Amino acid sequence: MSALDDFRAEVAAWFRDNRPPEPDFLLPESFMEVGTDAQFEHLRAWQRKIYEAGYLGMAWPTQYGGGGKPQAFQDIVNAEMARQKVPFVPNTIGLNWAGPLILAIGTEAEKQRYIKGILTADDIWCQGFSEPDQGSDLANCQTRATRDGDEYVLNGANIWTSLGSYARYMILLARTNPLEKRYGGLSYFLCPMETPGIETQPIRKLTGEYGFTQTFFRDARIPADCLMGREGEGWKIAMMTLTFERGAAGGQAGGTARVALGVRDVVELARRSRRDGRPATEDPATRDQLVRFLIEDQGDRLCAARAAIPALCTERPLALPLSAKLRTSEHRRRLLQFALSLQGANAARYVGDARAVDGGKWQRAYFNAFSSTIGGGTSQIQANIVGERVLGLPKD
Ligand SMILES: Cc1cc2nc3c(=O)[nH]c(=O)nc-3n(C[C@H](O)[C@H](O)[C@H](O)COP(=O)(O)OP(=O)(O)OC[C@H]3O[C@@H](n4cnc5c(N)ncnc54)[C@H](O)[C@@H]3O)c2cc1C
Repeated sequence: MSALDDFRAEVAAWFRDNRPPEPDFLLPESFMEVGTDAQFEHLRAWQRKIYEAGYLGMAWPTQYGGGGKPQAFQDIVNAEMARQKVPFVPNTIGLNWAGPLILAIGTEAEKQRYIKGILTADDIWCQGFSEPDQGSDLANCQTRATRDGDEYVLNGANIWTSLGSYARYMILLARTNPLEKRYGGLSYFLCPMETPGIETQPIRKLTGEYGFTQTFFRDARIPADCLMGREGEGWKIAMMTLTFERGAAGGQAGGTARVALGVRDVVELARRSRRDGRPATEDPATRDQLVRFLIEDQGDRLCAARAAIPALCTERPLALPLSAKLRTSEHRRRLLQFALSLQGANAARYVGDARAVDGGKWQRAYFNAFSSTIGGGTSQIQANIVGERVLGLPKD
């Protein structure tokens, strides 16, 4: 057995033995649905435990709290967490977007100040990019940051701020130069959320859960050293953040961001479901659909594996990373829609209805599946990116 095989066995045993007991409340499905203090504290304690066991930030530098090991070790942990369907870790924005960004371009002081707290979950991060009047058109950002001595004064509003109720820091895009209408006037901030003048207001989702907020800035004064990079570099840094967010760049600390119902769960549901009085898996049309989903799922797995080997991606190096979010989020949405179609009239029952199949978890997962087709750039925007940057199609 290789060292990695030994490690895989060790990790599998650790997660089996340390899985937290099922709480007496419903856990959220992903970091985008953490809506109550009980859910949050449960997940935060879980992240801390995984970090203390040495299974998070394994490939990050040791001087900032990481493990200093090859990425392959963290990949094994991530795969095992997904396989055992243990709860996800809540600090997704910190671990996977803000953290890698700070390690890539942050100053030494920023690395010392922020990285360890991201890993321990002492410092939860959120992202302030979307505004009530702009989402896809990020360059139209209107939140103002005005320099005043040793401070910036923030005014404006963000919306759809995932983890906004619990975050200690925000990666924030704001306009420092109002004369520049688009890219050039933007700057990037590592903004403390406990600043007077910053307020968050939870937003209720289609599922009845909370998880994101509207965030208001009213003459909120933050220290000038919260600026990342230089004034006017905000667009460049935001684009770099999105490459981490959309999974197109490596360097993430690891952990899982959701507990997903997958294609094998749907096969198992089909075995229990009936079509014309027989198991749905005996129905040719259902079998055909299931096989298509299985092939797509396997295709996505192989693409992810292939994307990690540069020699196999020389022809179109960006094709796999830039298309991954579009492929996998749309696949999940269609898969869950199919899972509901297996339930006949029961598809209309929801969490809280004693007659809902599996407590209504399929319905909740279906509604939540839209999150990833919108957050981080909608599917239409992702398709534009693939069309223009991978296929070289004209802009219109
Ligand atoms: C669950 C969830 C969590 C989120 N979390 C965060 C967060 O933590 N921080 C944050 O800043 N934001 C967050 N967002 C916001 C998200 O990034 C935006 O919703 C998204 O970028 C789309 O912006 P919008 O809602 O303003 O839609 P719009 O930009 O108004 O788009 C409306 C529709 O028009 C389409 N469209 C727009 N422009 C084009 C175009 N050029 N070509 C083709 N179609 C186009 C879109 O695809 C969409 O269908 C989250 C969203 C969701 C759903």
